[in-house]
Amino acid sequence: MADVNNSSMKRDEWEEERMPQPVYKKRTPFMYISAGLRFLKFLWSREIRYYQVRPVDTLFFLTYRCTSKCKTCTLWQRTDKSGELTLDEWKKTVDMCADMGARYFELFGGDALLRPDLLVPLTAYIKSKPGLYCDLVTNCTLMTEEIATGLVEAGMDDIWISMDGIDESHNFVRGNKKSFSKVELTIDWVKKARGKNRLPYLHANTTISNLNYDNFDKVLPYAEKMGMDFNHLEYAGEFWDELLDQSIIDDVRPSPYFVRQDGQSILANSQQAQIIKDKISQMKKDARTMNISLQCENVDKLSTDQMTSGLCDNRRCYITRGKVTVDPRGNVVGCCFYGDWILGNVRDNHLRDIWNNKKHKQFMKHFANRDMKLCEHCIVGVQRNPTAYQNIRDYVTRALGKAQT
Ligand code: SF4
Repeated sequence: MADVNNSSMKRDEWEEERMPQPVYKKRTPFMYISAGLRFLKFLWSREIRYYQVRPVDTLFFLTYRCTSKCKTCTLWQRTDKSGELTLDEWKKTVDMCADMGARYFELFGGDALLRPDLLVPLTAYIKSKPGLYCDLVTNCTLMTEEIATGLVEAGMDDIWISMDGIDESHNFVRGNKKSFSKVELTIDWVKKARGKNRLPYLHANTTISNLNYDNFDKVLPYAEKMGMDFNHLEYAGEFWDELLDQSIIDDVRPSPYFVRQDGQSILANSQQAQIIKDKISQMKKDARTMNISLQCENVDKLSTDQMTSGLCDNRRCYITRGKVTVDPRGNVVGCCFYGDWILGNVRDNHLRDIWNNKKHKQFMKHFANRDMKLCEHCIVGVQRNPTAYQNIRDYVTRALGKAQT
């Protein structure tokens, strides 16, 4: 069992783990060597955890309901709130996960702000335990100054704000005309509440697709102007019906939320993919003189061919072996895209009786046997699933100033 109070684990190591390849503003050989050594240490411990099937982090779906109507995600189509866990049940889940060694807790939705009864007290509970980290992913729609201040005071480490463009281009992707105005207010509220403190870090999280390929780069200067800390770029994920039919395991069909809507693909064509690559190349140059960090490893890892086909090189799945994914009703599931592959429920059992049980082992076996066609298109694995060899190869490629083309 991991020691959650291990004081030798510093925040730097966590940042290396969650954001392994920041684009350094001033690149010096020393920085690469020192970052490289930290990275090798991280890869070593990651391999050990992989083989031990040890929980490292968690993904808590506080609710599947959402206030956006994104063209890139279908979670908002899930409207049933029956049976969602209570605050006490989530606290118990935190205890179980921490007992098993998990240290990073992501509060996710849907729109997690649809559970205002949970957000601030659950954050405070997680942060009351030594060595645990907590982050929130939000569209900001229901944010208030009171909640923003409460999150900061509770000790939230990172707030990831979805920002797919500026003003109308953001609202267009989000399917909500007022979305961007709440983003601006939230940034102001969090900055005011954190004052001179560093935390929570504010991340502008930008999903790139054919809907915003020509304007996503406007987020970086805007986020800098607003005083945010990071602009994180991610490429859009996409699945479709035929792929899901080819991914049924033991009669369980995957239930991902990155599914084509009205048959329309959001993947870039080859011309758009090249434009995206060119824009990121320019953004990297710009970011070196800016007061914000650009994180583009996710898109750097993809070639333009992969961007147009949606194919990802997931040779292993570190996610299912290390991330505890809990749905709103307390089901621990195989991964976020196999919500109906249920390992067990935290209402009925301790995580130690669920994790690595027969159902979990069976899921990992299906992955190893390549029974799940879906995994070949799993965008969440692009940064999380590379093997040690792939990671070192990509690190050297980036250190030499090159990127996938
Ligand atoms: S690679 Fe497959 S098993 Fe792993 S998270 Fe993605 S869809 Fe789930």
